[in-house]
Amino acid sequence: AAATRARVLYVEDDAVNALLVRELLASRGDIDLVVADSGTAGLEEARAQRPDLILLDMQLPDMDGLAVLKALRADPATASVTCVALSANAMPSDREAARDAGFDEYWTKPIVFATFRAGLARLLGRPG
Ligand code: MN
Repeated sequence: AAATRARVLYVEDDAVNALLVRELLASRGDIDLVVADSGTAGLEEARAQRPDLILLDMQLPDMDGLAVLKALRADPATASVTCVALSANAMPSDREAARDAGFDEYWTKPIVFATFRAGLARLLGRPG
């Protein structure tokens, strides 16, 4: 399993955040990153790529993150993928709504490199 590469799909419309995560993963030769900039594109990539982990921005131009998650969970091809909500909203009610909807974790923006890297390593079972 260690020889295989992990696949991460990041659904994010903000170019700066997408670039940050690209930079953050650039040093990880064992993780492939795909970025999709809308909910629709994210769902297409999820079906095509079969990622190990999906990072989902909660505010996308065409759908909100809860709607994207619902579509992922409704499709047998993507139903069991680990999904992390990424949001600037740190209110407990937002976290609860995300958990209730079926997100595995809820991470708040702005992205903190060390925390983000550690979270990815943990969820993928791949220490940095
Ligand atoms: Mn957004």
